[in-house]
Amino acid sequence: MCDTCGCQLNPEHAQDSRVVEINRSLLAANQELAEKNRSHMEQMGAVAINLISSPGAGKTTLLEKTIEALGERYRIGVIEGDIETERDAERIRAKGVPAVQLTTGGACHLDAALVHKGIHQLQHQLADKRLDLIFIENVGNLVCPATFYLGEHKRVVMVSVPEGSDKPAKYPRAFIGSDLFIITKTDLLPYFDFSIEEASGAAKALNPKIETICLSAPTGDGMDEWMKFLAGLVNR
Ligand code: MG
Repeated sequence: MCDTCGCQLNPEHAQDSRVVEINRSLLAANQELAEKNRSHMEQMGAVAINLISSPGAGKTTLLEKTIEALGERYRIGVIEGDIETERDAERIRAKGVPAVQLTTGGACHLDAALVHKGIHQLQHQLADKRLDLIFIENVGNLVCPATFYLGEHKRVVMVSVPEGSDKPAKYPRAFIGSDLFIITKTDLLPYFDFSIEEASGAAKALNPKIETICLSAPTGDGMDEWMKFLAGLVNR
């Protein structure tokens, strides 16, 4: 699967010069389409956020709680990415906002072409074609999604407490390219050997501009910081 999923798109890791050239052109084509995505989303009035994490870090739960808190104030749309199933889009629709499910059929990341389709599908669900916020929930994976720009305005990387505080150091690219680091499931801190200082310090060492928010979506602890971040984007 790695031949097609993007794992080898990092030119410094490819050995064959032809592979390097193909990878460069694939990434260039992705970049070009991502710029179009960004322009489409801006024409809709929306700020787009690309959420990246391992499977099970709590991306969909965070979105559900975000919609509960902000769904009346902002027009929110969601593009869901998964390998299979419509489950996450159904969870989001149950909260009363438009959602599109993209299934990659095996690929471990979203790319700009797939998101382009998702934007148009989302537009079809909107009477006035206007949104304030578009969340793009990437396929659960801390590796390949980091390589593919989708046209988002902000990229958010998440790690949950049970995953361990060594993840920023082990998966640097996801943190180097992100604007915000969210540590989720902080209600589980008493039960796991997780150091917020280690995780946030490693992220900051990789990317001095990255900020860290610690929260528990189910309990609501720390959610106010996330809401402030979102309000700052919408009210630019
Ligand atoms: Mg999900």
